[in-house]
Amino acid sequence: MGVIQSLKCRECSAEYEPQFRYICEECFGPLDVIYNFPSDLNKEVFSSRQEKSYWRYFELLPISNKNNIINLHAGFTPLQEADELGKQIGGLKNLFIKNDSVNPTFSFKDRPAGVAVSRAKETKLRAVGCASTGNLASATAAHAAKARLPCYIFAPSDIESPKISQALAYGAEFVAVQGTYDDANRVASIIGDSKGIGIVNINMRPYYVEGSKTLAFEVAEQLNWQVPDHLIIPVGSGAMLNAICKGFEELHEFGFVEDISNLRITAAQPHGCAPIVNAFKRHDSDIVPIERPETIAKSLAIGDPGDGMYVLRRLKQYRGVAEEATDAEIVDGILMLARTEGIFTEPAGGVSVAVLKKLVEDGTIERDEKVVCYVTGNGLKSPEAIADKLPKLNVVKPDIQLVSAMIT
Ligand SMILES: *Cc1c(COP(=O)(O)O)cnc(C)c1O
Ligand SMILES: [Zn+2]
Repeated sequence: MGVIQSLKCRECSAEYEPQFRYICEECFGPLDVIYNFPSDLNKEVFSSRQEKSYWRYFELLPISNKNNIINLHAGFTPLQEADELGKQIGGLKNLFIKNDSVNPTFSFKDRPAGVAVSRAKETKLRAVGCASTGNLASATAAHAAKARLPCYIFAPSDIESPKISQALAYGAEFVAVQGTYDDANRVASIIGDSKGIGIVNINMRPYYVEGSKTLAFEVAEQLNWQVPDHLIIPVGSGAMLNAICKGFEELHEFGFVEDISNLRITAAQPHGCAPIVNAFKRHDSDIVPIERPETIAKSLAIGDPGDGMYVLRRLKQYRGVAEEATDAEIVDGILMLARTEGIFTEPAGGVSVAVLKKLVEDGTIERDEKVVCYVTGNGLKSPEAIADKLPKLNVVKPDIQLVSAMIT
């Protein structure tokens, strides 16, 4: 079990009992989970486990009693060698795709949502919910269904319709907010606190973010406890990027991986909502929010990223880069990944691939570097994003001669 010692402010280091709280009373900084890790952690023990989900790392996650784990068997997703894609984007020889599009609800959000819903069950909250750009809705709703907890989703009304259908199918209550993600987030925050609902990415955030550390644990284990040279990470709020860095740092602390000082990271955002890239390129530590995000990468359309400041710090710490991709480049990225590696991703994954291609072309990433590109969501969640770029269907009578003439 992950033994939680306290919640600690990321800014002023004030410590709190691990209760239902998420903001420092002294300075309003975010709180992080501090653990009492067992002293005899051993990477061979993890490698030999039968559990083929991210719960194979349960000692490193903030759930005290294993019986409270809500397990949809998310995680332990493929780390796929991507030689052909590497070749086509400028001759990368050591490229891997972390394919998180094959999770139970088809995005990486099953990791943070599963941990937060499990913790909500452990602390006996009466209901859960989330503010969502789309994928977190389904991830929270599915885990809530399995936990037998009511679930309230707050999301912009204009997210992709498959994501709405999916969340409703799991039985969630869907509050479709006329406005942006930031509007939905504000509503969820106030309703969550006043009604005692565990909003996984707001008042449960200290636990929520821990789930995405497993994106680092799995990659390291799948590379035989080697650390890659460069990670490409799509960024909305920035929570995942921070968690991946924290994950590698913990592995180093336990002695599972030797050296993380050569690790570099890239934050990838869509051109129509790139507040972190903008600040990075201005050499500014202040993030100017985007009022009206406009991008096909709706899961990254967070105009005022909660962890934006921390992403900028991580980029400094890991000699990182922030880069953006236009809608056209995103679509190209989606199709290139599908046609070289057989992986169909939603626009967020297209952002990762498009940004990777740019960085190889401009020499930021060298050809023999070991690169892991995170592909975080499934293409079936936003089929309309690429509809215009696909060939029109040619409907034909079931006539062998006609069909035969079409096939060269
Ligand atoms: C939410 C999401 C992201 C971004 O994660 P953050 O923690 O908000 O930065 C990336 N990809 C997909 C598919 C997502 O749903
Ligand atoms: Zn503080």
